[in-house]
Amino acid sequence: MESLKEILSRRRALVITPFAFAGIYALTSRKGDPPPPAVDVTIIPFDDHGNPQPATKTKRIVHTDAEWKKLLTPGQFYVTRRESTDTPYTGTMYKSHNRGLFRCICCSNAVFSSDAKFDSATGWPSFFAPIAKENIATRRDTSMMMDRIEVHCTLCLAHLGHVFDDGPEPTGLRYCINESSLRFVAL
Ligand SMILES: [Zn+2]
Repeated sequence: MESLKEILSRRRALVITPFAFAGIYALTSRKGDPPPPAVDVTIIPFDDHGNPQPATKTKRIVHTDAEWKKLLTPGQFYVTRRESTDTPYTGTMYKSHNRGLFRCICCSNAVFSSDAKFDSATGWPSFFAPIAKENIATRRDTSMMMDRIEVHCTLCLAHLGHVFDDGPEPTGLRYCINESSLRFVAL
């Protein structure tokens, strides 16, 4: 099976302009869309001590925009539900080396661990791997005149950030994640 890294390398050869216009349309057309269907998804739950639990099949967490706005700050809403991006070098997570879990701000699904965090010097929290491959998902994102791989939470579809192929070993990947999409749990 083709790895994420191979996909990331191959997409560089693509001409992005036609996709960029499609991406702008896709981004704007999402506003006010009905919530996605609450299909079954499988995740690896983690307790607050960082211990993985058996794989669990559960319903995707779905809310309307009005409901998300009650649960989130405006900044968290626009990053996670509208794919906005935090200003780099804001917040505290990008420079933190504290040991712990990073949970999705929307649904508390564990998405990253400090074990895979590294200093990317980009001003965004960066990881070379998710805490469990089941807990995040990716899709191609051609918005903003760029061709990128978007990363989101499997459980609630919250936008987390993007993944690039210029990360460190052992994966060579760099998950560039918005602090507004994360809740830190210290270990
Ligand atoms: Zn989530």
